[in-house]
Amino acid sequence: MAEFKLTIDGRVEDAEGTFAVLNPAHETVVGQAPDASREQLDRAVAAARAAFVGWRDTAREQRVAAINAFAGAITDNLDDLARLLTLEQGKPLQEAHNELQACLGWIDAFVHTELSEPVLVDDAESLISYRHRPLGVVGGITPWNAPVLVACNKLIPAVQTGNTVVLKPSPYTPLSTLKLGELAQQAFPAGVVNVLSGGNELGRWMSEHPGIDKLSFTGSTATGKAIMRSGADNLKRLTLELGGNDAAIVLDDVDVPAVVEKLFWGAFYNSGQICTAIKRMYVHADIHDAIAQGLVQYSQYIEMGDGTREGVVLGPVQNKMQFDKVCALAASARQAGGRFLCGGEPRGGAGYFFPVSIVVDLPNDARLVQEEQFGPILPLIRYTDVEQALAWVNAGRQGLGGSVWSADLARAEALARRLESGSAWVNKHMDVRPDVPFGGARESGLGMEHTALGLAEYTQLQVLNIAKQ
Ligand code: NAD
Repeated sequence: MAEFKLTIDGRVEDAEGTFAVLNPAHETVVGQAPDASREQLDRAVAAARAAFVGWRDTAREQRVAAINAFAGAITDNLDDLARLLTLEQGKPLQEAHNELQACLGWIDAFVHTELSEPVLVDDAESLISYRHRPLGVVGGITPWNAPVLVACNKLIPAVQTGNTVVLKPSPYTPLSTLKLGELAQQAFPAGVVNVLSGGNELGRWMSEHPGIDKLSFTGSTATGKAIMRSGADNLKRLTLELGGNDAAIVLDDVDVPAVVEKLFWGAFYNSGQICTAIKRMYVHADIHDAIAQGLVQYSQYIEMGDGTREGVVLGPVQNKMQFDKVCALAASARQAGGRFLCGGEPRGGAGYFFPVSIVVDLPNDARLVQEEQFGPILPLIRYTDVEQALAWVNAGRQGLGGSVWSADLARAEALARRLESGSAWVNKHMDVRPDVPFGGARESGLGMEHTALGLAEYTQLQVLNIAKQ
């Protein structure tokens, strides 16, 4: 079994304790992850602070060269990383490759993004401009659904803008991120990138740590709120990418056969474990049954299983906690009068497998409609009045993404503009890309990622105001 280590100040090390990381397809141990102590966190933060002084003052070209060297190290180890990602996360091997390729693509997009330093006033008296200064030490805390992509999405913008980093992956999927930490040492000076695995407690210590200037967090809304509270003491800068309960509104004029496949993947990609997956689908009564049947038929061609097996396109739910949550939501849907057109019960046997499940006849106030399921179970809610559907969609507390589906683009766009969400899509969903800003409205987040807007969040804007005489 491979060894997994922390990286602190350019060196790998063990922790006193370890914890087992399970393969969710079999519930067998993939590896032991080091359980970092508070003392190790303190040393990682101190190393990052010490490295910041030199890294902050390097030329942008030098930082970009290091980032490109890191991308090269990922490329050289792509197959091993993809396999490890599948073993710990459960996603099919092809999807693990896709996640790593996305990482490389995103890194490329980030290094081609620059922050400008515009001159605001240049007259006889004054020269006034602003510039972006790095913040210092950035803590990154990541979830288990796309661990490598989310880690790169924090690491690269942070170091590119001159910060140093302490990264903490989810305890469910720390292994591939620990390997990224080791690879980063080939590319960055000691202390610039530190990676620690541990439990939720380690995350809490990070959010309270006075030596961390900013936290970039991706995970649940509940944890995001806890981080905001405990980060208040040193007024930590925060980027919070939190939970979503994205809705798709399917209008009466859609071409049903043309949209079924897109709707299916919008909801079930990564077995529904995507923050911006469609988690509730509002379908006009005229086409409701046709859409439901189309989704059920499409699901019959979908193979769910061990991600290392040929032909498998959907993996298990990633961990027992989430699996139990999905099972409980399925039971609550049945109690609330929901009719399962497929799935509805766990598969049984080893592994956290819950089949693709489509539920109809639920009222809008059912738990499965109101709560984020983060798993392969989708409620379809029938509507006749689109204003009512929009009101239901916008009544939720979250606002990550949303979509409208119609043959009439102008009609769909008019409705999409009224969605109270950070992203509003038309005839697509989950189209998240590094050259387009991404962030949640309301309780789905704070701040933006991607593009120059996202890079700027890793900096403090400083106004430079010079009297000419
Ligand atoms: P989670 O909030 O339970 O855990 C996320 C990370 O936070 C883990 O590394 C965990 O160890 C750490 N953590 C837990 N308690 C902490 C605390 N008190 N202080 C600091 N850190 C703490 O979330 P999860 O179950 O890993 O991920 C699923 C959730 O993430 C879903 O709600 C999903 O929608 C959301 N998510 C959001 C996005 C986005 O970009 N908006 C992307 C992916 C996932």
